Amino acid sequence: MNFHNASFKAAYGTSAQLPASTGPEVSFAGRSNVGKSSLLNKLMYRKGLAKVSATPGKTATINFYDVDGHDLVDLPGYGFAKVSKSEKNRWSELIEGYYNQDRDFALVVSLIDIRHDPSALDRNMVRFLQDAELPFAIALTKADKLSKQQQQKQRAAIKKALDLPKGTPIVATSSEKGDGIDELRTLIASAMEG
Ligand code: GDP
Repeated sequence: MNFHNASFKAAYGTSAQLPASTGPEVSFAGRSNVGKSSLLNKLMYRKGLAKVSATPGKTATINFYDVDGHDLVDLPGYGFAKVSKSEKNRWSELIEGYYNQDRDFALVVSLIDIRHDPSALDRNMVRFLQDAELPFAIALTKADKLSKQQQQKQRAAIKKALDLPKGTPIVATSSEKGDGIDELRTLIASAMEG
């Protein structure tokens, strides 16, 4: 799977607008400002393809990207405090609406900031993925902000806090330095092709 071969496909503001899956999909979920757009851009070798927001929580659409004929799905970042209740409802409608559809879910990449213990919303997200029996992996973001030793410590703490099932892939990534990016590409490619 050639990640250089990437382009934006479409954005959807409600889950009802989503077209049926055309093949296996790898989706990305995480709280707003976790570094999701930066990670997607890094994966796809494209600086501005996913919008890195100066204002967190701006991405309130589901965005589809085509990577070498496969769909990557960018879900809106959750948990941004400074928005109205109705806007929050719209985001949860989008996220739940997407996962409640009968789609070809190859892998969900759940993003967690490596510096922080998972929030209640993060834990809900992972619980939801487990309950729905969706295949998922954890991408720890912004690894460059911690020393290798701190990374190991946080990885263990986050694993414990999320109570991950054995064998759940967990990759420490840095969109700044490139750590873990190839490993994540390999996970995505094998999910798409497996
Ligand atoms: P999103 O809201 O989840 O899409 O997050 P963004 O990708 O817009 O990133 C939020 C902020 O975190 C921005 O200021 C980014 O520059 C910063 N950021 C994202 N990824 C990294 C990373 O790997 N390392 C560092 N140091 N900063 C990052």
